[in-house]
Amino acid sequence: LPVLAVVGRPNVGKSTLVNRILGRREAVTEDKPGVTRDRVSYPAEWAGRRFTLVDTGGWEVDVAGIDARVAEQAEIAISLADAVVFVVDAVVGPTDTDERVVRLLRRSGKPVVLCANKVDGASGEADAMNLWSLGLGEPYPVSALHGRGTGDLLEAAMNVLPTESAHGELRPEGPRRVALVGRPNVGKSSLLNKIAGSQRVVVDEIAGTTRDPVDELVLLKGVPWWFVDTAGIRRRVHQTRGADFYASLRTQAAIEKAEVAVVLLDASVPLTEQDTRVLSQVVDAGRALVIAYNKWDLMDDDRRRYLEREIDKELVQLQWAERVNVSARTGWHTERLVPVLERALASWDRRIPTGRLNAFLGELVAAHPHPLRGGKQSRILFATQASTRPPRFVLFATGFIEAGYRRFIERRLREEFGFEGTPIEISVRVRE
Ligand code: GDP
Repeated sequence: LPVLAVVGRPNVGKSTLVNRILGRREAVTEDKPGVTRDRVSYPAEWAGRRFTLVDTGGWEVDVAGIDARVAEQAEIAISLADAVVFVVDAVVGPTDTDERVVRLLRRSGKPVVLCANKVDGASGEADAMNLWSLGLGEPYPVSALHGRGTGDLLEAAMNVLPTESAHGELRPEGPRRVALVGRPNVGKSSLLNKIAGSQRVVVDEIAGTTRDPVDELVLLKGVPWWFVDTAGIRRRVHQTRGADFYASLRTQAAIEKAEVAVVLLDASVPLTEQDTRVLSQVVDAGRALVIAYNKWDLMDDDRRRYLEREIDKELVQLQWAERVNVSARTGWHTERLVPVLERALASWDRRIPTGRLNAFLGELVAAHPHPLRGGKQSRILFATQASTRPPRFVLFATGFIEAGYRRFIERRLREEFGFEGTPIEISVRVRE
């Protein structure tokens, strides 16, 4: 899905706007300065268009050096976005920090819609017009608090947002792109160091590669892979407040650029909420997934038994993802990553011919029809794989298809066709 990022300095009303777009209220109460959330992206929909909304408002800290940090954060958000809503406080007017973000926006070349927020009364219109001076085109007067003007703003955003994510169309030729992600201290940098080793790759040797300075080419068994956005791994972030949010934003950036993500978990301690969130970030982004349990050198029988129960309980929705157990410290089993990555990518790329798909589904739905509801029987008439990377299926049906039945179909599709290591999407279109 295309990514729309909401960017701006603290307290301009980004989170309020995000809540408006998502049509929810709950986070408004959290909207006090200094309160951090660490979720950064949400599935969103506007006028029938689906997209991923990235909220950078979770990290509003009142510390020295804020200006530089706002810029750094904005830069990450802009890099992962396909279009940006830049929020400025119309009452305050443009500040130096705003100007700084404007420069980043210009350099990125990404489409921008300028939101002049806090235009609560008629007099605010004039304030909004002052923002023409930023050189980002027409300022859209908005009151995120009251909802005013958000419709026009979003319409403008939808007009510039591409229908497909640029990262989603990563070309299949050239080295494949992998994100190494996981919460702080699971061992990402240790693993990267272990597998990248002393092997330094001269980038020019690989034809047709454009290098993003935060990406790193790593040879695994002689084959080059792009490890994307490794800067966040190499450069330790030393900060207390907002560190989780920052890590989440980095993670999102890496996932958006990658085709497959290795989510690193610490096998020696219980799974945390942050671990689960990283896993959902990958699935929601529609990327192939490999789960790697690190610190296996610390395991004993008790811990191993506990872990098995935990996997059955907490990761039951992700049974399709392959798991590898490794030790970044000793290097144990790190060579097993490559075949698992390759399998996940093969599934991610897989296309099932329409004939085969329908032959299979025809038999399946004949043997297991959709449950009767109110005397009515929905039937699946036809199915097609609308896309790969990840595989997306569209079912054409005569009526409403229940979520449970959809999951049943997904399970059977996986049993029949594999798809180990990739999320798959199933949507339903009802034909009268
Ligand atoms: P990151 O924040 O995910 O990049 O984690 P680091 O790579 O900085 O590792 C965090 C801590 O875990 C460090 O003290 C590492 O030495 C330690 N560590 C990483 N991998 C392993 C491992 O496989 N086994 C053990 N015992 N410790 C590890």
